[in-house]
Amino acid sequence: MSKETVTVATYTNEPEAEAARARLESLGIPCEVQTDNAGGMYPQLDVTEGIRLVVHAEDEARARETLADLQAPDSSPPWICPACGEEVDGNFTVCWNCKRERG
Ligand SMILES: [Zn+2]
Repeated sequence: MSKETVTVATYTNEPEAEAARARLESLGIPCEVQTDNAGGMYPQLDVTEGIRLVVHAEDEARARETLADLQAPDSSPPWICPACGEEVDGNFTVCWNCKRERG
């Protein structure tokens, strides 16, 4: 990459970084996965700092938005069924107890 780049996320494992990279590229956002094994330039950093996902500065906002969306499915808060009062997991749209749809 020759343009100015920014790191939008860091990961500790490569599959996770590759999944994020694939997601951004599928949306037409060019990006690159970089690993910090400083190659002898910084011998004091013999522990890998992480795997960085890097995009062009002009794509930073879009990339961050996309990565936030990637996290979303796991963070849906539970909801309370208005019909029977049971707590329903945020990933479900229908009450497990009485089958009422989320209002
Ligand atoms: Zn219910």
